[in-house]
Amino acid sequence: MDGQFARTAAETGMSGASTWLQSGYDREVVISVIRPTSAAATARVPAKINLQLAVGPRRPDGYHSVVTVFHALSLFDEVTVSEAVGSPGSQVAAHTEVTVTGEGAAQVPLDRSNLAAQAAEALAKAVGRHPAVVRIDIRKRIPVAAGLAGGSADAAATLVACNELWKAGLSQRELIEIGAGLGSDVPFALAGGTAVGRGRGEQLTPALATGTFHWALAFGLGGLSTAEVYATCDRLREARVAAGEEGGAAEPELSRPLMAALRSGDPAKLGPLLSNDLQPAALSLEPGLRRTLTAGREYGALGAIVSGSGPTCVFLAANVAHAREMAVALTGAGVCRSVARASGPVPGAVTVKDRPPS
Ligand code: ATP
Repeated sequence: MDGQFARTAAETGMSGASTWLQSGYDREVVISVIRPTSAAATARVPAKINLQLAVGPRRPDGYHSVVTVFHALSLFDEVTVSEAVGSPGSQVAAHTEVTVTGEGAAQVPLDRSNLAAQAAEALAKAVGRHPAVVRIDIRKRIPVAAGLAGGSADAAATLVACNELWKAGLSQRELIEIGAGLGSDVPFALAGGTAVGRGRGEQLTPALATGTFHWALAFGLGGLSTAEVYATCDRLREARVAAGEEGGAAEPELSRPLMAALRSGDPAKLGPLLSNDLQPAALSLEPGLRRTLTAGREYGALGAIVSGSGPTCVFLAANVAHAREMAVALTGAGVCRSVARASGPVPGAVTVKDRPPS
């Protein structure tokens, strides 16, 4: 889809093709020194949790069809993108450079497997600026491999920030279309709020939710691989079928009572309706999460659930003060690595005041 969304210079206000666009450097072989210029754009992007995650049978393409209710929380990563130019006299590679600081930075890849780098490439292709030459500085507060879609969030923030940096002028709909090709959770990281996801989770419909919900989040010691959690879910289901306990995975269905509770804005109604079909698999891979969930319930959580593929456990509070109390109590209980407090829904990826890369 090279240049699928390319805008003319007149449409975007750009003064013409930039020099790197015309360069013929081989991005595969040339090692470079890249330094940022002052042109930069920053986007902030929320973590997601799943208020419902209904998982259907494994599809022939290896994915599972899901019906999920995404909810964006006030726990944010920030991504700054800046134009990159080579040092004088050095050879310059036409490539993307990634730096990561903050929560779990050491576990995040810096090469092309980083979803943010893939997002820059995909946007550059879509607007006819390929190959992308951009520096991407990611400041993480969303823990890695935690069931909070941090990688997808960074991809979404990169799309928004590059759209701004390159004055590409793509609409949110167009960014969502590109995002869907990067990962199932990327469209929601762009959209934010509360939304129903179908298909692999990428087909979004906004959900009506009243007011703000307050949460305490307990982060696990390590991460869980999403692929491994899905595979474990399949294995557990097969074992139950073999034991004659159930008749196989049903097509996933949206919980109407949960949607009504969201509309009511009443956390006491919402709490008992939270559900996650991946939770038994996450608990079988990380049995210690049972203790975490039990502790949250003892501290009065209205709902206690593993987020997505885990291992983060999320606890719905009655109000902001209760969320604070639960966060303090969970910290003292020693049932998790660390604790955060957050509220939702919040908007998806948005640009923030430009901040020069550090
Ligand atoms: P998923 O989105 O696959 O359900 P998750 O939400 O549990 O996963 P992520 O924080 O997205 O977890 O990390 C999953 C894996 O993605 C990590 O182990 C890491 O290797 C890889 N990854 C690629 N890019 C990033 C990124 N920018 N930030 C975090 N992880 C990334």
